[in-house]
Amino acid sequence: MRLRECNTETDRMDYRWRKALGALVALSLGCASSKHEQQQQPAPQPAPQAQAATAPAETPPVPTLRLDPQVRPSGYELELTVDPNRDQFAGVVKIALELPQATRFVWLNGQELEVQSATIAGADGKTSPARAVKGSEDFIGFGFEQPVGPGKATLEVKYTGRISDKDSQGLFRQKEGGDWYAFSQFEPDDARRVLPSFDEPSFKVPFQLTLKIPMALQGYSNTPVEQETPAAGGFKKLRFARTKPLPSYLLAFGVGPLEAVDAGRAGKNQVPVRIIVPHGRAAEAAYAAKVTGPILGLLEDYFGIPYPYEKLDQLSIPIATGWGAMENAGLVTYVSELILAKPEQDTLERQRIFAEVAAHELAHQWFGDLVTMPWWNDIWLNESFASWMEVGTIDKFAPDWGAQVEQVKTRNQSMKADSLATARVIRQKIENRGDIRNAFDGITYGKGASVLTMFESYLGKERFQAGIHRYMQKHAYGNATADDFLASISEAAGRDVAPMFSTYLQQAGVPRVSMKLACEAGQKPTLQLSQRRYLPTGSKGSSEGLWQVPVCVRYGQGAGKAGEACTLLTEKQGQLVLEDAKGCPDWVMPNAQMKGYYRALLEGDGLARLMKQGGKQLSLPERVGLLGDAKALTASNDLPAADTLTLAQRMLPSDDRELVTAAMSASSVNVDYLPQGMRPNYERFLRKTYGPEARKLGLSPKKGESQDQALLRPEVLWTVAYSGRDPQLAAQSKALALKWLTDRSAVDPALVPVVLHTAALGADEALHGRMLAEAKKSQDRRERGWLLEALGAVRDPKLVAKNLQVMMGEDFDLRESYTLLSGPLEEPTTRQQAYDFFKENYDALVARFPRDYGAYLTMGASHFCDAAHREDVQAFFGERTPKLPGGKRVLAQTLETVDLCIAQKAAQGESLGRYLAKY
Ligand SMILES: [Zn+2]
Repeated sequence: MRLRECNTETDRMDYRWRKALGALVALSLGCASSKHEQQQQPAPQPAPQAQAATAPAETPPVPTLRLDPQVRPSGYELELTVDPNRDQFAGVVKIALELPQATRFVWLNGQELEVQSATIAGADGKTSPARAVKGSEDFIGFGFEQPVGPGKATLEVKYTGRISDKDSQGLFRQKEGGDWYAFSQFEPDDARRVLPSFDEPSFKVPFQLTLKIPMALQGYSNTPVEQETPAAGGFKKLRFARTKPLPSYLLAFGVGPLEAVDAGRAGKNQVPVRIIVPHGRAAEAAYAAKVTGPILGLLEDYFGIPYPYEKLDQLSIPIATGWGAMENAGLVTYVSELILAKPEQDTLERQRIFAEVAAHELAHQWFGDLVTMPWWNDIWLNESFASWMEVGTIDKFAPDWGAQVEQVKTRNQSMKADSLATARVIRQKIENRGDIRNAFDGITYGKGASVLTMFESYLGKERFQAGIHRYMQKHAYGNATADDFLASISEAAGRDVAPMFSTYLQQAGVPRVSMKLACEAGQKPTLQLSQRRYLPTGSKGSSEGLWQVPVCVRYGQGAGKAGEACTLLTEKQGQLVLEDAKGCPDWVMPNAQMKGYYRALLEGDGLARLMKQGGKQLSLPERVGLLGDAKALTASNDLPAADTLTLAQRMLPSDDRELVTAAMSASSVNVDYLPQGMRPNYERFLRKTYGPEARKLGLSPKKGESQDQALLRPEVLWTVAYSGRDPQLAAQSKALALKWLTDRSAVDPALVPVVLHTAALGADEALHGRMLAEAKKSQDRRERGWLLEALGAVRDPKLVAKNLQVMMGEDFDLRESYTLLSGPLEEPTTRQQAYDFFKENYDALVARFPRDYGAYLTMGASHFCDAAHREDVQAFFGERTPKLPGGKRVLAQTLETVDLCIAQKAAQGESLGRYLAKY
């Protein structure tokens, strides 16, 4: 699954993900994490329902989290009657069971399902009625009059269920262009809302699905349609081919007036590829149709195993869901803003993000689909690997896109998440359903990918790939654990890699490696190394921790030459002798190509030496990584804030887009840290530093410019026009926004978000009214998203109040209009007003939000930076959030974020004030 990016930065530097992926800013599953829940008991289950009371005494106790592993399915036949115009569906499921012994009762997963009837047939084929028993929210049981088994048996259940209008999980429906569509999303554990099932990933078996749908509609699922027959009442039946073995979370389908765009054939088996789109939107799928096949081919080349399924459909879901894309075998789903764009609205950025996400989802067809983790503690075997494969694949697909630099940026972000005392570990124990939700976070994705990058580099690309081949071949169509993976890599590497991997998989945190260069006469130059856990100032975490860190450095040998040296740092102290060095090196780059997952601290004059020539001897990933480390070392009080700002400026000017954006990121400051009255100075600093670049690029594309210039333009404008509040650019933005409101071609689509946001900052009632009216009128999801997000940036309290009333009304789906609250919560000048409203309407908001997302609303309170509000957040949310799924972890992270802000403000404020005073 690919999530909407988590982002707790209050600056706008990492804007592209949030804005590219829609409205649920920072509300993706698992932006939060907490160690506090590790020792928690399983979440209390609701008391068994009334029906359970009537169950005979021999009913075994309701499971609390997992099913009995002894009773297994061997396959499903499922028929679903789905009419997207209705909010109910009907199902008939036949489950082939393997019973280890004679039994009179079986528990399955099932949620919100109403059973009409059930039967059980033993190996002798004799059928008898089965009695359905409601267990807790997640379980449904079936009792038999006579013992059944041991051996094969078939349980048949007729039932009905709900098609949700509000959720983005289970089976849900969405109206688009006047038509209703229904879609499924089962990962991690929502298949149970659509069929009584063994809804755990270790039960990996074939499914044969039949969809009964209105005659005029189309239906798609994991496999091709085998047979289509008319059915009574204006319906038709689509019988899909039996799938290869799949866990329940990968079963998928979509129903509606859908259209298929032919994207040719791809891979060694020349499987058909299609893009499935809502009615009338075929022209928007051109880019997806062009790149899907080539990306699939590159993945096949890496794995050495052909794409394992019969066909590949990529299905667009027109909804502001809480997730971005999902790797269902043979039927990958994407939110429509990712996969589709009208030609006149399309941007390079959207296309690149689509290609990256497609590489991630298609990598899952092997990592996750072909080989599946048996339980959610090993979800990193899916997500870390798909995220890591995404980089290598895109690097081959488009070498000039700078995928390796993007990986360094991902590393910087995940290290920030990993520096929280409440950070999860990659292989976190799963004690309850909330833990499963929490597992889809920046640690599983970003840290996991960064750790794999490090070990691939340390062990060697070929050996690592050979290990992956072994792992895939050995476990194809089955399940495998972390131990299985480590065994395969160890065999290929010729050494046991488990101990070093484990220090990252089983332990939270980022190692901080400090290095001191010693050059003594008659001896080889040596780096003295020491490690401990990196912690930001104000953290209540412990700096204890010991990792096996592959440390690789590069060093200057004079005359433009550089040497390289590596060691595995396994103890608290160690050393790295620069064996090949000729004399004392001019400089030492403490993390060669930024492959290592550690923050590096150069003691003494190490940083000054490194930056003597503006860092020109360093590679781009190294410079970008160095800026990320500098910002982190400022947060831990190892480097004054002023030094990081100076370092960023010394990297400029640069023709390189990645370096300019990394410098902007390093010099962006949480405005809450600024001493009283210094915000105008900070804005002048941004204008002075990046204004020349902004003016050079301007507010419209130039003929013949490079892709990098086109991509850099909006990023620089965010810094100078929006964050820096440049008056000239603000006036131009307002004029352009007014034009755009009547003529959509007046602004380059890549610039629409920044132009509308900048205009909204100073919006008066008239402009606000026009933007709001357009948002209400627009039938275009992307356009409506642009407007609603920009409206969230207004600063006038009267307009903020108006927005909040609009959000509570019926004009918009709350999943789209939530930006009207999240925007003013981020901004210090509007925060109090928005917070008061937030608290007053909290219960109503939770009730209207998708079921499993309510807890994440609390993160809106994480922007505060003072003790009084911290107390208030604790008092108000402490009573409410822990009651929601995943809520304890979310609350803990929210409070820790506020605590860290308070401490950072105290630690950095003075240095920032001194530096900015001259602006
Ligand atoms: Zn994924």
